[in-house]
Amino acid sequence: MSVITAYLLGLATLPAGVAAGWLLYRLFRRETWLCPYCLEWTAHIKGRPDTALHLPAVLTWASVLVHGRTARHRAWMRAHEEYDIRPADPTWGFRPDRLTRAVPTDELDDESQTYLLEWGFGSERESRKEPVEMPYADCLFDGKRVEGDVIRHEDGSMELLTVRHSTEDPLRIPLFDGNAEPNPRIKPIERE
Ligand SMILES: [Zn+2]
Repeated sequence: MSVITAYLLGLATLPAGVAAGWLLYRLFRRETWLCPYCLEWTAHIKGRPDTALHLPAVLTWASVLVHGRTARHRAWMRAHEEYDIRPADPTWGFRPDRLTRAVPTDELDDESQTYLLEWGFGSERESRKEPVEMPYADCLFDGKRVEGDVIRHEDGSMELLTVRHSTEDPLRIPLFDGNAEPNPRIKPIERE
């Protein structure tokens, strides 16, 4: 093998080396994932589903797969699908990562609900309040059509804040309790 061939072969393995390095980094970088349907971290501190555990990415992906099969997740998926509610994801687009908690608060403005976000560990812990756009939903309440913004609560339960008409005050209608059990007075609107 000539020197030039050896040199070229050496060059050819460089991208492979870079790709392998990147792959290792992606597999083992510490990550976490918040399920926007359940509002729970798929890997969390024992007994505290609202506090994230940062694990090597391979384990986090596994935790997402396991989470997707739990009865609780399936119940919340069904609730969103049946009532055509888009999940509100407080972690979407949030930097810095290393988020540990995302807790809905009672502060509302026109279209968004404020979430308290916490990140970092130990003395580096920080928090900030961020507005998160509320999903819009409609359904039947006692047989009458109602529509408005969906509010999420810390225990996971959901409420509909009905749109204000000039003649009436907005109503707060409970949609689901913390276990995704629907309010017996609501029904989804039939869609084709
Ligand atoms: Zn979930």
